Amino acid sequence: MSTQTAVAPAHEESMFEAVLARLDAAAKLMNLSDEVALVLRNPSKQVKVSLPVMMDSGKIQVFEGYRTVHSTHLGPSKGGIRYAMDVNADEVMALAAWMSFKCAVANLPYGGAKGGIKLDPRAHSVGELERISRAYAVAMKDVFGVNKDIPAPDMGTSGREMAWILDEFNKNTGEDSPGVITGKPVAVGGSLGRDAATGRGVMVNTLAALRKMGLKPTEVTAVVQGFGNVGSHAARLLAEQGVKIVGIGDHSASYYNEKGIDIAAAIEFASKNNRNLKGFTGATEIKGSELLISKCDVLVPGALQNVITIDNAAKIQAKLIVEGANGPTTPEADPILNDKKIICVPDILANSGGVTVSYFEWVQNKAGYYWTEEEVNTKHDQKMEIAFEAVWNNMVQYKTSMRIAAYITALQKLEQGVKLKGAY
Ligand code: GLU
Repeated sequence: MSTQTAVAPAHEESMFEAVLARLDAAAKLMNLSDEVALVLRNPSKQVKVSLPVMMDSGKIQVFEGYRTVHSTHLGPSKGGIRYAMDVNADEVMALAAWMSFKCAVANLPYGGAKGGIKLDPRAHSVGELERISRAYAVAMKDVFGVNKDIPAPDMGTSGREMAWILDEFNKNTGEDSPGVITGKPVAVGGSLGRDAATGRGVMVNTLAALRKMGLKPTEVTAVVQGFGNVGSHAARLLAEQGVKIVGIGDHSASYYNEKGIDIAAAIEFASKNNRNLKGFTGATEIKGSELLISKCDVLVPGALQNVITIDNAAKIQAKLIVEGANGPTTPEADPILNDKKIICVPDILANSGGVTVSYFEWVQNKAGYYWTEEEVNTKHDQKMEIAFEAVWNNMVQYKTSMRIAAYITALQKLEQGVKLKGAY
């Protein structure tokens, strides 16, 4: 079977190829029909725009903007918008496909999409970021829609960007539709609990996996890579459950302390230090490359993609990996982790807490009725437990890794959607 979506050349570093490799492995094991696999190997819509925006200097700069809708078989497409320098068609396509699988695993009535703008958010003023975000919203106004394609934050974006995009979308359509975008600040229709949701999902998945492994949270240590929206909440919530966090790190610095790190102090420090950990004194500074291979029971890669590779996978000491980031493990590293009997809760399950609470936000927006944080968290935890069990059961049934089991779980749902909706 050939890949018909040759937007990016199929070379070794293609992230979309990494998705297809896992899709193929799961498809083979579960005997997925070739037609369904063919449909899912081809994203349904790919949009690329050029955004000319006036910089503070008075000069115009042109930015590349993307939105890929991978599938709409289980509902309107859903997925974040990323601001990063490595944003490109191949990466967005891979991330969009992961959203389809993630939403299916989490039992959400959504397809998958992803968008992005190629820029370094740290290199722009707030004013420039606002103009770029608004230009992107106008360019994508026919792609987005409350029952069509619903964006959210991702790497490099937050509620601030969502509020700008919402405002611009509403101005251009002449309607007030808060549900067209999620991850908004609470004051403009966001949901309580959304900010911490991805980290909360990581915590719930970690606890569920530890239970299966016969370990108590109070008996284990953890290392968390990334101290942004995913990592900081994951570290805090795991610490609240009694897990000893021995290592943390972000793009600025990494730290280790075998006696345990005071996560509240680290969060407080980062909040006063331009959200950077560099300079934190509650632990010893180590090299970034040492963090993932340092001594711990649980490893949470919660920031970047492609960080667990053939170069470091064999050196990982953790018994359990919980992927807070999207795509932190390369396909070549998977068999190394499997051989070492490391349990890896894959990204499409482990970080699905964010999109799960995005779904709750969308439901609240549609109803115009808002829930308490406790209601959000309770519903989130229930959904996550169900998703975890389904994946675990498929892992046992198909005698495979949790990653391939998660793909199988997603494909079982997507297969029904593709078959029931049919083709021309
Ligand atoms: N960007 C997040 C993810 O990768 C959230 C997506 C959403 O809430 O739609 O899952």
